[in-house]
Amino acid sequence: MDLDAANAVLLERGAPAYRVAQMRQAITRDLITSWDEASTLPKDLRVALSEAAPASEMTIEDVQRAKDGTVKARFATSDGFPAEAVLMRSKDRHTVCLSSQSGCALACTFCATGTMGFGRSLTKGEIFEQLLWAARTARESNAKVRNVVMMGMGEPLQNLDAVLDFCHMTNDPDGFGLGARSIAISTAGWIPGIDALIKEPMQVKLAISLHAPDDALRSELMPINRRYPIKDLMAALKRYRQATKRRIYVEYLLLNEVNDRVEQAERLADLLYANLPGGTHVNLIWYNPTGSGMTASAPDRVARFQAVLEKRKIEHTLRRSKGADIDAACGQLAVRGLQEAKQKAREGRAQA
Ligand code: SAH
Repeated sequence: MDLDAANAVLLERGAPAYRVAQMRQAITRDLITSWDEASTLPKDLRVALSEAAPASEMTIEDVQRAKDGTVKARFATSDGFPAEAVLMRSKDRHTVCLSSQSGCALACTFCATGTMGFGRSLTKGEIFEQLLWAARTARESNAKVRNVVMMGMGEPLQNLDAVLDFCHMTNDPDGFGLGARSIAISTAGWIPGIDALIKEPMQVKLAISLHAPDDALRSELMPINRRYPIKDLMAALKRYRQATKRRIYVEYLLLNEVNDRVEQAERLADLLYANLPGGTHVNLIWYNPTGSGMTASAPDRVARFQAVLEKRKIEHTLRRSKGADIDAACGQLAVRGLQEAKQKAREGRAQA
């Protein structure tokens, strides 16, 4: 659902401001899935909107509910590419984790999405539609979506235009109306995107998936590190920090006997002190095994790692993923359909 496109339809037809407000309310407050449900709008407008800015562009293929209340939806784009979104609950303030791409080109070795390759980038409308699904699902239990994290499938900074347009639609008081600080963009370290974000006035949060304190290990886990090694990444984050004064969230996945040694915690602390003193919050992430052969760190190793950060006065939180029983946890968003969709797209191109 592309709210900008819907606005353009009304603008083109010279519709009065109250019609624009009705249209927007139908989407963001009533959470309609078809313009037929927008009873406040005249029929001809509904028809025009259905053609140029459909209220639903994707189909929902599957919805799964975990014991902890986490809900995952699998969508298919109109050309058959899968995308997944996950709604996580905490009282009445829910967080939704959205996909920015179908599949991912970065091939991080620990990540399920990384193993499936790249399908295509999602449009701003396809990303926004995941949020609307989440808002609808939250409404079932009288809750609202209060946080958006771009931590589903894909590398958001490799689809930055669409992601920023999505953030604007989400943040705009005449859009979804969510504070920019409630939106987090997570990157594996795509430096051109970090530099582009520096120029972005919207105060979205930036999270960087670091996962290793040295190049040898990081390149092994995250091939993107060969192109943008830690030194360059830290320089980009320093530029970002200096320009925006914003805190940077550092994601660090704890992989048993891979990156969770005490020395590695010390090196992580050194790295952050040297480059971003006082400017970070480290999120230690519990690993959800994905068939990579790697496992989550043993609890005593987690405790020792945390103790180092504690001693070094590095602000940090240990995060446990939700929805693991339905493969809805971080990095588990892999969809069998992707290879098939890519094949179909290739055949389509061959025919054209
Ligand atoms: N490409 C972006 C956003 C998508 S991944 C990025 O790399 O940040 C969102 C987060 O989930 C990243 O920190 C990623 O490293 C982490 N992640 C990937 N696989 C995971 C898994 N199996 N268990 C826990 N976290 C995982």
